[in-house]
Amino acid sequence: MKIFQIINGHVNELLGINAELSEYRIENACKKCKVSHDKDGVFQNRCLKYRGGCGCRLPAATALKKKKCPRDVWYDNTINLDQLKKLKI
Ligand code: SF4
Repeated sequence: MKIFQIINGHVNELLGINAELSEYRIENACKKCKVSHDKDGVFQNRCLKYRGGCGCRLPAATALKKKKCPRDVWYDNTINLDQLKKLKI
């Protein structure tokens, strides 16, 4: 992710911009995805790089309207259930 996207994501998170969209993505995709869970199965609130993710903090990454899940699980307000099934915890 580019630096301005990282900054935008954190500003959005801080100001509550796209908060509903962010919550929707996290609750319906990220919390069910093994990429955000460590090896003990604990949710880390981050798309973990060592698990094949982008390394981003989820509250910031999901608050960017045009960001796409690095593993194609979500985009806009759409969840790709087939893709999520492959990564499900
Ligand atoms: S791969 Fe996608 S769904 Fe999974 S934790 Fe990362 S951003 Fe969320």
